[in-house]
Formats: sequence, structure tokens, C-alpha cells
Amino acid sequence: MTGDGETRDGTTRPRDQKTTGQMENVGMSDELHKIRLATAWLGGCSGCHMSFLDLDERLIELIAHADLVYSPLADIKEFPEGVDVTLVEGAVANVDHLALAQKIRARSRIVVSFGDCAVTGNVTSLRNRLAVDDLLTQVYKEGPGKVPRGGEADHILPALLPKVLPLHQVIAVDAYIPGCPPDPDRIWMAVQALLNGEPLRLPPEMRRFG
Ligand code: SF4
Repeated sequence: MTGDGETRDGTTRPRDQKTTGQMENVGMSDELHKIRLATAWLGGCSGCHMSFLDLDERLIELIAHADLVYSPLADIKEFPEGVDVTLVEGAVANVDHLALAQKIRARSRIVVSFGDCAVTGNVTSLRNRLAVDDLLTQVYKEGPGKVPRGGEADHILPALLPKVLPLHQVIAVDAYIPGCPPDPDRIWMAVQALLNGEPLRLPPEMRRFG
């Protein structure tokens, strides 16, 4: 440990692990203030974001109370400063994910692990049984497509981390929304808690994985 929970390999231990689906004191104190909301996509299939879109007409109510300042759903290149809440889909699988996760933590008041891949590694971490070199060789140098060929992969793809990690093993996480993907009702309950300035306490039936 190097201090403040940071470890020597640049990852950070969970600051204050909370029970899955629980979060304290996360709401906005000023009801007139619109939440600066972000969503991010790391090593995931985008299914959690698709479920977010399945909020349907509730998105209109959400946008009345929140500005979406960064998201794969919007064409914003740089993660901004001063974000109130960031929902993070996906596990941390490569160096680009790691850099974005650290930037998100530095610029967000509240970071939420959004979906099972962020919470546990889930599907994305299935490759953890293989060594990275074996994986790249099988997929890009010996696989049927061989695209990109040989060493070209090293210049095109961000370097993989030795293991896929859940978000809380890389940065401190404030709350968790499990599910693969979390269903829209679960997402809405979490978002409403944020909008209303209430603790995020998902009922037991909404804390299930899968
Ligand atoms: Fe996709 Fe499920 Fe992972 Fe969400 S939790 S990114 S839906 S595999």
C-alpha cells in the first residue's frame, strides 16, 4: 500500500465497501440543481446501457432532473470535471479501461458499479483462466480470421490487463446495481433515489445477480 488505499500496481482498494445495492447520502441537497449524470462503458456488452434505454418514457422525467454530461449514448469525447453521479458498465479489462476508471473516480462525486460485469467481473472475466499471451495468440495469430494479423494487434488494441477486474478492485465504488443486465425497474429505483436525495436501498429481490 502506498497510502489512501492505493496499491503499488496503481489499483485502489475499495474505500468503504457497502452491501450490494446500498448507498448512503448520495442525493442532491438542492432540489433545483440538476444532477450532472454520466454513464461509461468499460469491458461490457452494452446490455446494461440497452436496459438503461429501456427506461423509455421515464427517460423524459430523468432528463428533467439531470444533464447527461458523458455517455456512450452521446457523442462526448472527454470525461468532464464535476460530475455528480457516474454509472459504470463493464469490468476493467485493458489499459484504456483502467485510465478511464481512474479519471471517472477523480472527477465524480458518486461512482456506481452498474451491472454484474462491473460488480463481479461476470462474463468479461471468463478469460481470466487463460494467460494473456495465450489468449491473444489464439484469437489474433492462430484463429480462423487472423485479423489483425500477427504483431499488428499490439499496435491496434489497447494492452490487456493480466486479469479482468471488477470496478471496485481498481477504484473506490460508492454503490452497486447488480443484474445482467439490471432490469429497467431496478435502474429506475436507483436513479430515483439519486434524484430524490434518498439513500439507495434496493429491496432484496432487486439485489440478485444475473
Ligand atoms: Fe452485458 Fe450483462 Fe455485463 Fe451488463 S452485466 S455488460 S448486460 S454481460
